[in-house]
Amino acid sequence: MAKWVYAFGGGTAEGRSEMKNLLGGKGANLAEMANMGIPVPPGFTVTTEVCTYYYDNQQTYPAELKTQVEAAVVQIERIMDCKFGDEKNPLLLSVRSGARASMPGMMDTVLNLGLNDISVEGLAAKSGDPRFAFDSYRRFIQMYSSVVLGIEHHHFEAILDTIKTDRGLKLDTDLTAADWRKVVAAYKEMVAKELGRPFPQNVNDQLWGAVGAVFGSWMNQRAITYRRLHEIPADWGTAVNVQAMVFGNMGEDCATGVAFTRNPSTGINEFYGEYLINAQGEDVVAGIRTPQYLTTEARKTAGADLPAMEEVMPKVFNELAAIRAKLEEHFTDMQDIEFTVQKDKLWMLQTRTGKRTAAAALKIAIDLAKDGVITKEKAIQRIEPNALDHLLHPTLDPKAARNVLARGLPASPGAASGRVVFTAQDAEAWAGRGEKVILVRVETSPEDIGGMHVSQGILTSRGGMTSHAAVVARGMGRACVAGAGEVRIDTRAKTMFSRGHEVKEGDVITLDGSTGEVMLGAVPTVQPELTGDFGTLMGWVDEIRTLKVRANAETPLDARTARRFGAEGIGLCRTEHMFFHPERIIAVREMIMATDEAGRRHALAKIEPYQKNDFVELFEIMAGLPVTVRLLDPPLHEFLPKNEAEMADVARAAGTDVSALRSRNTELHETNPMLGHRGCRLGISYPEIYEMQARAIFEAAVEVSKKSGVTVTPEVMIPLVCTKKEFDLLKEVIDGAAREVFSQRGMTLPYMVGTMIELPRAALVAGKIAETASFFSFGTNDLTQTTLGMSRDDSGPFIEVYRQKGIFEHDPFATLDQEGVGEMVQIAAERGRKTRPDLKLGICGEHGGDPASITFCQKVGLNYVSCSPYRVPIARLAAAQAALGARSDTTA
Ligand code: ADP
Ligand code: MG
Ligand code: MG
Repeated sequence: MAKWVYAFGGGTAEGRSEMKNLLGGKGANLAEMANMGIPVPPGFTVTTEVCTYYYDNQQTYPAELKTQVEAAVVQIERIMDCKFGDEKNPLLLSVRSGARASMPGMMDTVLNLGLNDISVEGLAAKSGDPRFAFDSYRRFIQMYSSVVLGIEHHHFEAILDTIKTDRGLKLDTDLTAADWRKVVAAYKEMVAKELGRPFPQNVNDQLWGAVGAVFGSWMNQRAITYRRLHEIPADWGTAVNVQAMVFGNMGEDCATGVAFTRNPSTGINEFYGEYLINAQGEDVVAGIRTPQYLTTEARKTAGADLPAMEEVMPKVFNELAAIRAKLEEHFTDMQDIEFTVQKDKLWMLQTRTGKRTAAAALKIAIDLAKDGVITKEKAIQRIEPNALDHLLHPTLDPKAARNVLARGLPASPGAASGRVVFTAQDAEAWAGRGEKVILVRVETSPEDIGGMHVSQGILTSRGGMTSHAAVVARGMGRACVAGAGEVRIDTRAKTMFSRGHEVKEGDVITLDGSTGEVMLGAVPTVQPELTGDFGTLMGWVDEIRTLKVRANAETPLDARTARRFGAEGIGLCRTEHMFFHPERIIAVREMIMATDEAGRRHALAKIEPYQKNDFVELFEIMAGLPVTVRLLDPPLHEFLPKNEAEMADVARAAGTDVSALRSRNTELHETNPMLGHRGCRLGISYPEIYEMQARAIFEAAVEVSKKSGVTVTPEVMIPLVCTKKEFDLLKEVIDGAAREVFSQRGMTLPYMVGTMIELPRAALVAGKIAETASFFSFGTNDLTQTTLGMSRDDSGPFIEVYRQKGIFEHDPFATLDQEGVGEMVQIAAERGRKTRPDLKLGICGEHGGDPASITFCQKVGLNYVSCSPYRVPIARLAAAQAALGARSDTTA
């Protein structure tokens, strides 16, 4: 008989933490904690396979499920010594979702299930606390009605508000048993009216209704959006966890809380969390009451008045601190935990690998490795390469003036400036127009994640360090200031007020997620330090990786940035970018517009000194590291004069008249410039262009080698080759220039001549091209464009459709299409190396900085990847991970 249900509690469990695929992260870890002897309320997990079955079979369950669930409930009853649905001694249950990867707040939880008009009286009598019993019942009616029956929250809020106002009460905890009885009666009446039938009283109907709602929530819009943003497949399914309730709302010796075993914002090894006395479930994160700190130290640092848990319940706090240590040791990573204290007894309700900022991820991994808890290799595998991006970008200049508008909690670090918007929809609309936005909300909810994703930063006026906004922002790497209570937000009027200022939609503000400050206007930024933990990690990474990492750079600034980030050379210096300078562009246009060789040579002579100087600067900065210079590959249309004034400038320089230029301009117009007279085709038509460039390269190499004493070894690269003959003709031009310069300067330097592989034909005939080419660099932008027959500049809209329809998993211009373009790369690498075993191979397309593509480059045996300077550290880390094999995914 198939096993659909796994029990846990009472010191044992049928599941283990390795069974996340079957039990979901929450269920697997509840089982693991039970096995470790940590107090966990008994319960059971209905597996993700039931979810799959449910969707494969018209939302029905496997036949054996009912009996297995019944048996598991009986086991909970035995351990808890009470009975589900009993009049006098009722067992209450929580029903929670739990997928393989954690999807915080994505699906809803039902607490206090098993209460009805009769059992609530039983609970009141048994506990001697009717206030608690009716508080639990009203929570249950509200949660069940909204999650399972689809009745909106505001109906409940309106009723509660009316009763509170009538009684002149402010806090939920001020309501008496009699008040809650009234609330319950009003809730039930409203539900019956909305629903057309009474609130379900049969506890088994309640249970199956909740189970069905959890499975149903797997396909709700916010779960679908979350999965899309985090690339979680829909067929994973969710598990359902049914667990005995423990009560944090039975009085002053009760509490509920959430914590991280280390600081998830900075990574510092300190116990970090919040709790509330006499509260239940989501009260801590919902922002209804101000949560209190766990440790005395954190309370003092924050200057908070309300006492810390360490002060109020020291004994339970110490137990919790011991569990903190035990969990970290066991899971060897920072944990995100949830707990409840019922009458001074501690219960753990959840543990999972905690989400953290990039800075915290780095610090935690390095600290754990230094403490010997994990290996260096493991530390390297734990860090998502793309997350490093957040550490490489500027932070607010500490010396800049700050016009502070408000202060909130430093919920997620980073500096962000942008225009204020007040709804997630507006954030998406404004961002769609290319605006940088800051999303300002009283508090965020899972419906807002699309808007949070496109924002630079998030500001809320309510909620703590573990509020939805804070958790999601840290996960997404967005700056966040949470709970800035002094900010008054009027969402409808789209304005906010603070410290006497009014900020309207579209006004610019700056957030400092590390201090919690909110500033008016944009505050200038500074470059980050690349030492400390970052330096340590990069050192470890460099010991392990075998792929070299170069940068795509042509300006001195880019080259210096690349070196600062640890680039081991330049993999692509695009010479056409050097031609755009205002003082050169006229000569460049003159060259393009010239109708004969003499005219071109005349213009080229003007450009040559500039070219040489460019290369001198680059070679000096790179100090002997390899530099691959790609000869001119101009999209001609970008260089042509665009108006009469530019036309006149060129005519003057060339000594011709404007009308002649105009007809030449028409002649040069191309229907499809990307497939036109570009790349080496231009060099074939007008060899004098490449001859000038080659001369400038060798002149510069000789000059810098002489001056610095370090030998410069230029790598000259010919673009857009598709036949061996093209390559050979142009190689002869380059060799000729080298001979000429070396004999004139009395110095010979080593150099290489190679080609881009960016056309399918070149990949296919790579074996022949390698007879004379000594290196290949895969230009995967053009290679993707030409292999797929899709224009990179025009494909955006339909690639999005292709992704939505599942035709493409990724944008092929961002992540290498391994099946198609990858095959081209592999063929070229194999055929090239067969001819020339020491053929040097690299990649210089956008893909050179994409971690998944880098793994592929390692597999195919490339020597190096080349990417934009800011991605160099990311590529170094990705290369180390590729050398180590798959990245370890520790997400619970
Ligand atoms: P999420 O995935 O949003 O964290 P959970 O399933 O963890 O949702 O439930 C949310 C909250 O409900 C928990 O933090 C906890 O406070 C409360 N809760 C869940 N199960 C129980 C239980 N068995 N007893 C008491 N409280 C519970
Ligand atoms: Mg929840
Ligand atoms: Mg939880």
